[in-house]
Amino acid sequence: MAASGASAADALSAATDAFAAAGVDTPRLDAEVLLSELAGIDRATLVTDRELALEPAAARAFSEAVRRRIRREPVAYILGNRGFRHIDLTVDRRVLIPRPETEMLVELALEVDPGTVLEIGTGSGAIALAVADELPGSRVTATEVSDGAIEVAVANAARLGLGDRVGFELGSLPDGPGEFDLILANLPYVPDSDGLPPEVGQWEPEGALFGGPDGTDVIAEVLTGFGRAGIEAPVIGLEIGQGQGEKVAEMVRQAGWPEAEIRLDLAGIDRVVIGRR
Ligand code: GLN
Repeated sequence: MAASGASAADALSAATDAFAAAGVDTPRLDAEVLLSELAGIDRATLVTDRELALEPAAARAFSEAVRRRIRREPVAYILGNRGFRHIDLTVDRRVLIPRPETEMLVELALEVDPGTVLEIGTGSGAIALAVADELPGSRVTATEVSDGAIEVAVANAARLGLGDRVGFELGSLPDGPGEFDLILANLPYVPDSDGLPPEVGQWEPEGALFGGPDGTDVIAEVLTGFGRAGIEAPVIGLEIGQGQGEKVAEMVRQAGWPEAEIRLDLAGIDRVVIGRR
């Protein structure tokens, strides 16, 4: 039988120790975030109220979450959601968990202020839906090759009430030719041989991560596909990984955007290539 009235402080410290022993990077933070969400108690209260007792149901839900986190399942999959910009996205193992650095592509959209946007490889729908949310006059078309992922994206669009301005298409590129004001893409760009932390390598979808020997194969394929498909836009923004800036900038110029700019993320890593024509 679950102990009733277990203290939140004891549950947190036991979970923190167990996470640290399992090699989790941020054991205390993860314990607080999980307990806070599952018990419906804000983190400040959890941390400051030493006498706080947990309801048995919350204690049980937290024990189950702790068991999952020890196996290095990401917090976002355990909770089933992740915040991105001003929206909350439902996520599960069918989609990559949205990353803070990907917000740079949404910031680019705010700079460009497009009426029409094409997003390639939307996953959970994070970029497409954040853009539609922040630019209420915009229409977004988003593609995705994984049918599991597109189900997640469509459900997110409906739940956020953005389904009327964001359309999803199964496939790499949209069916017909088209002109957009902006193209955005966070394609798989991790080099095949890269070692990833267990949270990523063992839990997130491989197809959303790996991009060939140096990580740029999928980006190259998509860039050359635009010309063949007759898809045009004055501005394109691509998320990239460490050390890929110069190579992808050259690919972007070759694909018809002569001005290519490389932007770094907060860690100083090449993160976005922007092409303009
Ligand atoms: N940023 C992710 C990671 O390094 C990779 C995402 C991607 O390939 N688009 O874990």
